Amino acid sequence: VGCRKTFPKRELLRFVHNGSGAVMFDEAQRLPGRGYYLCPQHDCLSNAWKNRKGKAFLKDEETARRLVPSVLESLLGSVERILGGSGNTTIAVEDLRTGDILLIREDMPEAGRCSLSESARTRGADVFDVPPGVLNWSEGRVIKHDSPKISPMLRNLRFYERLSSKGREL
Ligand SMILES: [Zn+2]
Repeated sequence: VGCRKTFPKRELLRFVHNGSGAVMFDEAQRLPGRGYYLCPQHDCLSNAWKNRKGKAFLKDEETARRLVPSVLESLLGSVERILGGSGNTTIAVEDLRTGDILLIREDMPEAGRCSLSESARTRGADVFDVPPGVLNWSEGRVIKHDSPKISPMLRNLRFYERLSSKGREL
């Protein structure tokens, strides 16, 4: 709906209108009704109301303005839910391997955060900075590559990362 380019469905965010015509983010892409698809990019979401199809979808600029923050919030909520409250919060960087995910608090001092993510990436892990609340205020969390949580987690985190970086193509 935004840039009018074509992508596989799984790489896009799906939205539907609910019974009262309000825009709803359909994270699992399973809600009934006509779906509107947008790239997980700030510009695509915030400019969608400017074209004809986007106008039909969003109705007004105010709805468009609220779209990015509300999708970011949903994505983080899902990450938090998938993580669950408990779990091992000790980060053993030397145990990380290809396909693991490392979540780091975005308010961690930059020097520590940089060296931590660098050594994790060297070992082949995917690293994401997330707001501290998502991690229940612990320093970081590791999701192992063979966890059943890995694929929904990765999907939400990639959407979050792309959408939260304004205009920057990742
Ligand atoms: Zn787009």
